[in-house]
Amino acid sequence: MKKERGICILCGEEKSGTPAGRDIVISLARKIRSALKMKEKHTIACGECLAECGKKRQRFEKMIWNYRIYAALFFLLLLGGAFAMGNFTLWLVLPGLLGAAFISLLPAFHYFPKFSF
Ligand SMILES: [Zn+2]
Repeated sequence: MKKERGICILCGEEKSGTPAGRDIVISLARKIRSALKMKEKHTIACGECLAECGKKRQRFEKMIWNYRIYAALFFLLLLGGAFAMGNFTLWLVLPGLLGAAFISLLPAFHYFPKFSF
């Protein structure tokens, strides 16, 4: 894996290390930086922090799956509950989907980039 010079996401020091994988968040951050004419700084994980960064990424990915399950449960409980109480209408599908979408987006606040080893 090619090393790049940048700011370590954990210790915040400028060194060379493994660059963050280019996903939608990283590409967006780079676009914003260049639009604001800020100096391009790569997000990296330095040698000492790389292992910890891998763990954080794993936790983040696990969280995404957990929240997808919560979202599905929320949707099923809302519609199933309404159905059981005999006041099910198709209009419940919309707030059900909106609520489920909101729940599945919550892990985004804990976003952590992927570093390839
Ligand atoms: Zn570091």
